[in-house]
Amino acid sequence: MPRSRQELQELVSTLGKVCISIGRADLASQLRVYFLALSRGLTDARGTLQLKWSEDAVTDWLGMLQVPPFSERFPVRGENARCSRCHPAPSPRAYQNLETVAQVPGGTGRRCKVCGERWLERAPRN
Ligand SMILES: [Zn+2]
Repeated sequence: MPRSRQELQELVSTLGKVCISIGRADLASQLRVYFLALSRGLTDARGTLQLKWSEDAVTDWLGMLQVPPFSERFPVRGENARCSRCHPAPSPRAYQNLETVAQVPGGTGRRCKVCGERWLERAPRN
């Protein structure tokens, strides 16, 4: 049976204190963020908070969304684009090592798992 938010916050607080006492300030810092998310209602119904952000992630998303001054961070290519480094010419294997890293309005962020090249693949206009 799920606990109330207040009960969960008390457990988080207890765990945070234990973490400090055993020298795990890193975990206590994460728990502070989780506690704040709980208190602001920023978790899902099961009290889950999934969060992994960094400066690189912020600028990558700004680039994928083409927000200045990051609009040119990634090349824009057409549908079914290949990695320009690993598969400059058409090949049946050209799409084996590609992954989607972002879905944005009008396109998809793609990444080559071999060399790390990233680009924005524009969706065809209807
Ligand atoms: Zn590549």
